[in-house]
Amino acid sequence: MRVNAFLASLLMAGCLGSAALAQSTHGNPWASTDIGVLPPIASLTDGIWLKGDLHVHSRHSHDSSNNSEAKIISFAESVGMGYLCISDHDNHVGGDVANNTWSDPEFKSDSVLLLYCAEWTTTRGHGTALSARPYDHQRLYDVRDQRDVVIGAVKKELGIHLSANHPSGKDHFGFSYDMVDSIEVWNSANWPKNANAIMIWDDMLSSGRKLTGRGGSDSHHGTPDTPEQATKNSYQRNTNYVGTPTTWVFATSKTSQAVVDALTNGRVSVSANPYAPRVEFYADLDQDGKMDIMMGDNTKPTGKPVKFRVELTGDTVPDASYIVKVVKDGNPFTTLQTTGKTPTAEFTDTPTTTGRTYYRVEVTGPPTPYPQVPGSMAMSGNMIGLSNPIYFNFDPNF
Ligand SMILES: [Zn+2]
Ligand SMILES: [Zn+2]
Repeated sequence: MRVNAFLASLLMAGCLGSAALAQSTHGNPWASTDIGVLPPIASLTDGIWLKGDLHVHSRHSHDSSNNSEAKIISFAESVGMGYLCISDHDNHVGGDVANNTWSDPEFKSDSVLLLYCAEWTTTRGHGTALSARPYDHQRLYDVRDQRDVVIGAVKKELGIHLSANHPSGKDHFGFSYDMVDSIEVWNSANWPKNANAIMIWDDMLSSGRKLTGRGGSDSHHGTPDTPEQATKNSYQRNTNYVGTPTTWVFATSKTSQAVVDALTNGRVSVSANPYAPRVEFYADLDQDGKMDIMMGDNTKPTGKPVKFRVELTGDTVPDASYIVKVVKDGNPFTTLQTTGKTPTAEFTDTPTTTGRTYYRVEVTGPPTPYPQVPGSMAMSGNMIGLSNPIYFNFDPNF
C-alpha cells in the first residue's frame, strides 16, 4: 500500500511537471497587448440628441392588438420622438407582402425617422435587425437555426445592426453575442425584471466586448377605437407603451444612418420615458476642465487621473435628490448624490495603463410623470436612466 501510494504521488508529480512545462511554452492570453492607434474621438457638440423607441409591435405582429402603424407613429410624434423602430415579428417573409411593415402606406412621418426594423423571432431567441434602408430580412430568417458563424456572415453581408432582445428569461438570446452590436438591457416599463440582462451586459463588457446597451418598450397593444375592440391585453396600453423606456442617441445628423451609427458606437443612454431626464456621461482626460470624451467612446489611458462627469438634462424634479451609481468593470465603484436644475455629479479615477477598464452609471430618483402612459411610473419605480460605458483600452479589432 505504502509503495503504491508513493508510486502514485511520483506519477502525479510527473503529470503536473509535464503540464506546467506544456503551459510554459504559451504566452499569457490575458497579458495586455498593444491595440495600436485608436480612431479619433468624434465631436462632443457637433451633433443632435434624438430620442426614440427601438422595440414596438404594430398590427403586423400576430400577437398585437389595436396598434396600427398610424397610431404608433402619431403617438411617437406627439411625445417628440426623433426616430422609431417598428419591429414586427419576421413580417414580410415567405412572400407575405400584405404583412410588410415597411410597405404599409401608414409607414411615413414628417418628423420621426423611421428605421427599417424587424424582430427576428427564432427558436433560440429574439433579436432586432435595424437598418437605415430596406434589407432582405428573408435571408436572415432563413439561417436562423444555422450555426452562429453562418448567421454572423449573413448579418455582415446584409450590413444591418443586430441587437439581442430581452436576453434573459423567456425567449432569452441563445446566440453568440459576438454577432450583435447592441443588447436590450432595459425591456419594457418593468425595470426590475432587467437585472439579469444587466448582468449579461456587464459580463460581455468585462470580457472585452464593446456592446451598446439600449432600451425597448416591446409594446404590442394600442388604444381600442371602440369598447368592443378591447382585448384582454388592452390594459397594457396604460402601463407599457411607446417610450417606456426611451433610448437617446447622440447622432452626427438627423438621418436614419446617423441614428444607427450612434447606436453601434454607443453614444446612447436610456431613460424611463420620453420626459425623464437624459443621462449624459463624459470624461475630462487631462483635467483642464473641458470634457474630452463621452459614453461610447474608447481611448487609451495616460496613467493620470481622469475626471468623470454625469449630467441629467431635461425635466428634473426641482430640489429632488438623484443617486448616481457608478459601475467599474462590472463592480460597484462609487455612489454619488446630486441635485439642482441640471444635476451634475463628478468623480475621479485613474484607469490602468496595462489592461481594459470601463465605467458606466445608473441613476435613480423621483419618477418623472408620463401622463400619456400613466401606469408606467409605478412599473419603473425610481429608475431614471442609465448610460453606456466610457471605455479605456478596448481593442477595436477584438
Ligand atoms: Zn421578443
Ligand atoms: Zn418584441
